[in-house]
This record gives sequence, C-alpha cells and structure tokens, in this order.
Amino acid sequence: MTQQRNNFQADPLSVLTDTFGRLHNNLRISITDRCNLRCTYCMPEENVNYLDRAEILSYEEIVKFIRIVSKLGVNKIRLTGGEPLVRQNVHELITQINQIEDVEDLGLTTNGILLESLAEDLYKAGLRRINVSMDTLSEETFKKLTRREGLDKVIAGIKKAQDVGFDPIKINALSIRGITEETLVDLADFSRETGIEVRFIEFMPLDADNEWERDKVFFAAEIIETLSKEIMPLVPVQTEKTSPSTSYEFKDGIGKIGIIASVSRPFCENCNRFRLTADGKLRNCLFSMEETDIKSALRNPQFNEEELLDQIRSSIQSKNAGHAINTAQFIQPDRPMNSIGG
Ligand code: SAM
Ligand code: SF4
Repeated sequence: MTQQRNNFQADPLSVLTDTFGRLHNNLRISITDRCNLRCTYCMPEENVNYLDRAEILSYEEIVKFIRIVSKLGVNKIRLTGGEPLVRQNVHELITQINQIEDVEDLGLTTNGILLESLAEDLYKAGLRRINVSMDTLSEETFKKLTRREGLDKVIAGIKKAQDVGFDPIKINALSIRGITEETLVDLADFSRETGIEVRFIEFMPLDADNEWERDKVFFAAEIIETLSKEIMPLVPVQTEKTSPSTSYEFKDGIGKIGIIASVSRPFCENCNRFRLTADGKLRNCLFSMEETDIKSALRNPQFNEEELLDQIRSSIQSKNAGHAINTAQFIQPDRPMNSIGG
C-alpha cells in the first residue's frame, strides 16, 4: 500500500477524516453475534462462545451512538451481525434509526432465513435497502456451506422482499474456489430472471476455523472470464467511488453483476467505513487488530459526549492505509466475521 498520509482538507472536528484524507460516513453495526446458520467461511461448526446478553448494546444505546456519530457526518448505516433478524423486534430499531434526521441511508444484511416472516414489518418500519446472502442455488451446496438447511426459506424471503417493495435488493455470494465455479452461472441467471444484482465477494481471511488460503479464493478476473464465456460479455457500469463493488451488466442489458474483489483488488484507498461490534467496540477496519471500547462510555452514569466524540475521532485517526492480506505480515484478526459484523 503506497498511499501517503496527508494534511486535512476538511475540518477534523466536524467530520471523521483519517490521516490519509478518507472521509468516514459509513457505519456498519453488528446488532448480535448470534446466528441461525454456521457458514464455513465465518463461524465454527460447534462450541460457539456467544456474548452474554448484558454485553450486547441495547437498541437505546445503539440509537444514542448513531445520533452522536451523525453529528460527525455519518449518514450511512447498515445493520448486520451475526444474523440481525434473530434479534427480537429489529423493526423497532429500524423505526428509531429512521427518526434520526441526518441518517440518509439505512440498510440491512441478512442470510434471509427469517426474511419471509419479517419483511413486511421491516418495510413498514421504513427499511428499503436489503442485502441477502445466498452463495448458491443448490440445496446440497447450501447445506455444505451453511451446515444447515433452508435455501428454500432464503429464496422465499427474497421473493417476499420483492413483493413487499424493497428496493434495492442485492444478493451477496461468497466467491470460493471449488464452490463458485459450479454455481456462478445459476446465480447470474437468477439476476437475469429477477433483475436483482448479484454481488460476488472474494472469500477473505475472517473465518473462525482459520482455514483461509489464497488458493481458496475464486478471483474477480475468473468470475468475469467465466460469465463472459458462459453467458455473454460483461460491460462495466458506473459505481460510486466509495463502493467496494465494481458493477457490470451483460451486454444485452439484462442482469447485473457486482464484484467485491477484496483480495485481488483491495479498495482500501477509497474506504469510508468503520464498524461497531455487538458488544460496543469500534473497529476502524475489518482487519484491525485494535478496538475502541465505546460501551463503557455509553454506559457511564457521568456520560460525556465530548469524550466519546474524541474516542471516535482517534479510532478513525489510527486507521492504517489498508489491509495486508497480500503480504507476509498479514495476521488474521481474533474475531471471526460473525463477531465483527460483515
Ligand atoms: N448473517 C448475515 C449474512 O450472512 O448476510 C449478516 C452477517 S454476515 C457476517 C455479512 C456478510 O459477510 C455476508 O454476506 C457474508 O457472506 C460475508 N462474509 C462472511 N464471512 C466472510 C469471509 N470470510 N469473507 C468474505 N465475506 C464474508
Ligand atoms: Fe451467520 Fe452470516 Fe456468518 Fe453465515 S455469514 S454464519 S449467516 S453471520
């Protein structure tokens, strides 16, 4: 990573800018580390040490935190987990976040298992943007990847989300060698049939089992090559500079493919994201080895907003230029993806 630290161009007290000049307006909040699936690339199969309930931020604390960061220009929020829909009454949290004036964009990422039953409540609460993770259309591969059954529920959840009116709906599919080759064309056809964008995400070293290897990633270039050969050429479409995804359309304009090439083409240079874990730790990067405890500040009876704002600023200030996956120095964080919040 050759990016240079630079001097502030924006007022560092009113926005969250790091020492590389990157503006941070995008906060991903994990609302639980619990999950109803056990994806091989994320959680362990057994002996999951879930956080105690008392450790988890309450909805009130989450909303309080969002109100505070929104004063620093944070206007994009995504709820994730673990599986956010296993937490009781998520729609109540959505309603409260939607009342915060400065939040312009609220999304949620789910594995879709409970989506069919909750879609209406979520929509009524004001949620419009939803990402559903679905790596395959084969029940057998689904079982192998998630160690559970339920692909039919995920598909029913996506259908329900469409019927209820969610827009945009995006599908997240992990790109893993040995899996993706077989399922790629089916998923692209799913996009062509439904109009829903399917985004392939290169498998990253964030699995609880610590079994990630570079050779296990099915890379962006291979995805493009296979789809162009098997279906028809893909044409790049304009995407936001800060989006980690590069979007493509098939030449006939039907179907949309996104590619998040976190390993082969890191997008750290334009990163605008930071994360809040379910137990109230602020992380300035998925791969960060350090966390800032903000739960103590939020729960302190002598709560001091200025002190909390300083903690948030210094967390962002200490952000590195980028992750080191592609170097010998890379160390996998202790927290797996379900605990960080993807
Ligand atoms: N449970 C929800 C779900 O699966 O959508 C939300 C949490 S999950 C951690 C968020 C996203 O992270 C999912 O799209 C999942 O595929 C992705 N993810 C999990 N482990 C990953 C890994 N090792 N590399 C890349 N993405 C991963
Ligand atoms: Fe659960 Fe999502 Fe992790 Fe799969 S990726 S185990 S659904 S948190």
